[in-house]
Amino acid sequence: MATIRYATAPPVEHSIEVDTICFYEHAAPAGRFAVCVACYPMSSIGFCRLGAALPHESVMQPGENSLTTFLVADPATLRTAAACHGALRGMLAALPELQSLRLTEDEWDAVVPADVVPAIVGAARRANGFSFCFHMGVHRRVIHDERGLLMACREWRLAASALGEKDCGICLDELERESAVQMTCCEHAFHRRCISEWISKATCPMCRRDVWRPAVPEILELSFAGAPAQGMPDIE
Ligand SMILES: [Zn+2]
Ligand SMILES: [Zn+2]
Repeated sequence: MATIRYATAPPVEHSIEVDTICFYEHAAPAGRFAVCVACYPMSSIGFCRLGAALPHESVMQPGENSLTTFLVADPATLRTAAACHGALRGMLAALPELQSLRLTEDEWDAVVPADVVPAIVGAARRANGFSFCFHMGVHRRVIHDERGLLMACREWRLAASALGEKDCGICLDELERESAVQMTCCEHAFHRRCISEWISKATCPMCRRDVWRPAVPEILELSFAGAPAQGMPDIE
């Protein structure tokens, strides 16, 4: 008996962007040196038409933020750029709000703001009793093409639904489980080959409901869970 393995289409682009919003020093109590970090993580997902340079729409997921203080026992450990970069990476990796972005190993290095490192090195050289504070925004973006949208439709609904005696809404022929795709927004189902031309319109051809917006939470979860890219689903 044939079973379908569901997979997520790989993103066509994913990127991490960091901007430092402000940084400043102020005197710390008891002559300690501390680094304070306020972080504003954002993630977004978008879909682009095949060959298009920009996504036609994207959804922002607002993050949380907090101010976390890291006491530095020996400021001498922050007096070179390389050492400061390493120490900052460790601090940022400890921030719970950044964990929600589920960064890869490569992406962690990109999270350390380059403009902050020399400022911390300078502060660490000047005095022991300062707090160095910086506020940063971290934005992780994932873009899928229509194939990703098509895969999300399958994965979300088809596995749990019985197609029964349904016919394809486009060609009116009978649907088989192996060849069918059900929309995320409604109960309408189509042959994969029939809907694949239409999917760039991002609406259901039967009822014109928005296809991809209802799927965004699931696609976000899959995109940021680092699910292995397996390409198109196989029939086993
Ligand atoms: Zn059809
Ligand atoms: Zn529909």
